[in-house]
Amino acid sequence: MSSVLPGQTIGILGGGQLGRMMSLAARRMGYRIVVLDPNPRCPTAQVSDGVVVGALDDRESAIRLAKQVDVITLDTEHVPADILDELEKYAPVRPGAAVLRTIQDRQTQKQFLDRLGVPQAEWAPVTSELDLRASLERFDGGIIKHRRAGYDGKGQLRADKPSEASAAWTWLRGTDAVIEEIVPFAREISAVIARSVLGEIRAFPIAENVHRRHILHTTRAPAQLAVETKQQVADIALTIAEALGHVGVLAVEMFELADGRVLVNEIAPRTHNSGHFTWGACATSQFEQHIRAICGLRLADPRPLTGAVMVNLIGDLWAKGAPAWRTVLDRPEAHLHLYGKELAAPGRKMGHVLLLDDDTDRALETAEQLIQSLTVS
Ligand code: AMP
Repeated sequence: MSSVLPGQTIGILGGGQLGRMMSLAARRMGYRIVVLDPNPRCPTAQVSDGVVVGALDDRESAIRLAKQVDVITLDTEHVPADILDELEKYAPVRPGAAVLRTIQDRQTQKQFLDRLGVPQAEWAPVTSELDLRASLERFDGGIIKHRRAGYDGKGQLRADKPSEASAAWTWLRGTDAVIEEIVPFAREISAVIARSVLGEIRAFPIAENVHRRHILHTTRAPAQLAVETKQQVADIALTIAEALGHVGVLAVEMFELADGRVLVNEIAPRTHNSGHFTWGACATSQFEQHIRAICGLRLADPRPLTGAVMVNLIGDLWAKGAPAWRTVLDRPEAHLHLYGKELAAPGRKMGHVLLLDDDTDRALETAEQLIQSLTVS
């Protein structure tokens, strides 16, 4: 198998912060990057060698990118799988169309997990108001999620009683959806692992995540888990990556129940927000590991070097203008990442702060203080 080597070109479909951090890692290693995005000043284009301006579902633009590169990867899973099939004629696409087809649609993702025997929340397809009402009765409430294109809680609605079925059905306006039971989780955790072209798998430390308003707020790593829970999480992530035949980084978000059992929430076939801590806290970042995997190289050592807490910087912090960064920059354990987004909309991920500290309880407290100080300044 031939590898893609430094000096050659990687194409990234989508120019958000994940693409940006992949590009920074790849260019350090001597690769060239070309990105496809509708915005020529998107976060990835700012740190890349070239940009093809076009929508992610525009076949012609995607082919224009494919003709310039040696391997293609993704910043988002929301690229039509049929386009990926076509791009394969020009360069390997990693992860490939089959992986995306399984994951892009929540229903096929859940069916895949059921077939594998991986534990997940009870769920059902939503095809009519009647079966929505029946599921709300059966699950005693539920979370309704669009089958496609949802992230950060977008396209989700919680309903607590069967009497809410009518309003929920109106909210769906005919969009395909699934319903899940509301999981009384004790904690949310995630496994970020990488699989190479040859099937080698390496795992980063398991992370513990807190969401606010459905958006990731903090990640603590390593998660403080019982040995058996760690093993369950590792086994689940490995089973999924192998069954998919995935190439690249893959994140599996999970719920930990009070009795230590875990349920899969969802799979992201790419680098992930809950793995940002690896850039600084581990011997290899998720971004370098992903580049190695898609280029057909051996994976590097993902071992943790320190404990870490990551806190996301959400657009709401910009309500009164740019935050006063001195409070972050004055702390020796804090590392600021800003993604170069021009517009700070509420709920938009603008950057993150990484706190490197083996005492992760202390780092979590510091993270809250920092967010507080940025909010009031
Ligand atoms: P998702 O976009 O599906 O990852 O959902 C975002 C967040 O909403 C999750 O990280 C959880 O905090 C919450 N959530 C989603 N689904 C469920 C569920 N079935 N039960 C309880 N909380 C959920």
